[in-house]
Amino acid sequence: MLFKKIDEFENLEIAYVCDFSGGYISRNKQLFGNIELNKLNQFILEKSVFGTPIFKMGRGNKKLLILSGIHGNELSPQIANLRLMNELIGNDIDLSLYFIPFAAPKSSMNNERTFNSLDLNRSSHIKNSLSNLILNAVLDLGIDFVGDFHSTAINSNPGFESVFSSKSPSPESFLIANYVARSVGCDVISYDFAGSSYKGAVEDVCNLKKVPAVTCEVLCPFGNVVRGSVDRSYSQMKSFLDYFGV
Ligand SMILES: [Zn+2]
Repeated sequence: MLFKKIDEFENLEIAYVCDFSGGYISRNKQLFGNIELNKLNQFILEKSVFGTPIFKMGRGNKKLLILSGIHGNELSPQIANLRLMNELIGNDIDLSLYFIPFAAPKSSMNNERTFNSLDLNRSSHIKNSLSNLILNAVLDLGIDFVGDFHSTAINSNPGFESVFSSKSPSPESFLIANYVARSVGCDVISYDFAGSSYKGAVEDVCNLKKVPAVTCEVLCPFGNVVRGSVDRSYSQMKSFLDYFGV
């Protein structure tokens, strides 16, 4: 995976996870209407037309990934991820931060949970699925920790604000989940062994590959944004970074 420097933005690099997942984020009114149209966001949206872009900021041995959009209709974390990138750009960061704000731009464009009828959070163990390619990027780049940010609706699973993790085989997942949950004031949902209750979640498959990972959920109706939901997802991201001293 080859990262390219971007002339317009100091300290930002871009590569692509794949080139078959692109979409026009601007066609999703709920999503686009909540994105500030500044130079960086416009650049990210333009690049998302051609696939799943991954961005890098900072330099350091420790490598973190902030991931959102695994479910295209969960809008708050995708907007929060852009906000985080805007806040961090131009800063001196002594770790390597990777961002995938739109895991499946096509699904985000269509305000759809699935990508080509596949639930990306149940298919990252399936060779060459989009979330499997994201997992491969995590492994190829040597990313050490993954935060996967979602939203959940009342009466869906889990239906309340929470951080998922498993204690084994990557026990630090559980420590990160507790840290984030305590600092933002939400619940921890933990399993003894990753992937034991269902297969193919990005967080679980990372955990199984010895990359500690958490799934963070904020409460928000699918396909929509409500007051405070972006702020709460953003707080989860900040607290995930805070665990590592960013
Ligand atoms: Zn989700």
